[in-house]
Amino acid sequence: MAERTGPVRAQHRAGEAAVQTAYSAFIRHTQVCTPCRTTGADCETAAGLRQAWRDAKEAAVAA
Ligand SMILES: [Zn+2]
Repeated sequence: MAERTGPVRAQHRAGEAAVQTAYSAFIRHTQVCTPCRTTGADCETAAGLRQAWRDAKEAAVAA
């Protein structure tokens, strides 16, 4: 059993890292994107990044 928990735990950690990476990318974008900053709404790029973040979260939960 110990042989099985290692990879699963590593996969879970990779999922968490993916969530953090996607979140950072989204936040970094909103900080430098003028349309996002001025309107307070997601531009097309931000929407894509937000979706990627959402997908990463779902993948992390599923893992
Ligand atoms: Zn933007």
